Amino acid sequence: MTRLLGIIGYPLGHSLSPVFQQAALDALRLDVRYERWETPPDSLVERLRSLRQPDVLGANVTVPHKEAVIPLLDAVDEWAQTVGAVNTIVNRDGLLTGYNTDSVGFLQGLTEAGFDPRGVSALLLGAGGAARGVALALAREGVASIAIANRTAERAQALAGLVARHGPRTEALPLGGAALREAALRSQLIVNTTTLGMLHSPGESASPLSPAWIPASALVYDLVYNPLETPLLREARRAGARTQGGLAMLLHQGAAAFVLWTGREAPVDVMRSVLRQVLGV
Ligand code: NAP
Repeated sequence: MTRLLGIIGYPLGHSLSPVFQQAALDALRLDVRYERWETPPDSLVERLRSLRQPDVLGANVTVPHKEAVIPLLDAVDEWAQTVGAVNTIVNRDGLLTGYNTDSVGFLQGLTEAGFDPRGVSALLLGAGGAARGVALALAREGVASIAIANRTAERAQALAGLVARHGPRTEALPLGGAALREAALRSQLIVNTTTLGMLHSPGESASPLSPAWIPASALVYDLVYNPLETPLLREARRAGARTQGGLAMLLHQGAAAFVLWTGREAPVDVMRSVLRQVLGV
């Protein structure tokens, strides 16, 4: 029997998961088809019900459903509960368990860049869903402080309040102005979790940070993976800073999900080369 996996989101136009997950499944000769399950919000309950079928191994979950699926699951792993978001679902005998592999993917990207977050001052640009997983992962890894700058002040304040309960000193800032400049200049790690710089978005050619505020000693990590070099990463490179793009996180969150569904080691090199091919690099 061919087993099924798929990604649940709405819209799904941008998702690369079907391509690199299918390549990984094929590389291991697994009889599994990874599908696009475009799911408008009013069809989410029905979609989750369909995941309980014996031929379904599980699913990925993306925008806008990462929080909304939680009450529809039978169990949610502890880390996904802490983050408040699920990006991976596993079907075990009709019972659905939710996981969050975004954080582990983000941290693997830091490891690949040779960066140890313990004790550092970090600046997070953005306070949306991805920022939450990143900030809590950094707190768990023992960063000393996290400054969170966001366009909408209330979201930065809410995230700073949550993260402070997990250890680091936190501060909420506007996305611009003297306070952001100071926070950037004292940071060893700067992470962009906004959509600025993302291809085909209104902020495609924009960067969330003035180039003059990027310290040469920092690692600048952009979650945006298309393009691979965003305006922020280009400016960071010119400033002499080290950079990491969003491809590493995309790859490693996918590899962690693959292990959960199949119990097999993910063929990371196959996944990476397919991603690079699709992104034209
Ligand atoms: P989200 O929940 O919608 O959050 C979007 C964030 O971007 C918010 O902080 C929002 O600020 C900010 N923003 C949007 N437009 C802006 C603008 N014009 N100016 C300033 N700030 C703006 O989205 P998300 O799920 O967190 O995703 C954020 C980014 O991370 C996306 O580009 C996504 O592709 C990327 N991502 C990558 C990976 C990966 O594996 N590499 C994984 C997850 C996400 P407000 O609060 O003011 O609206």
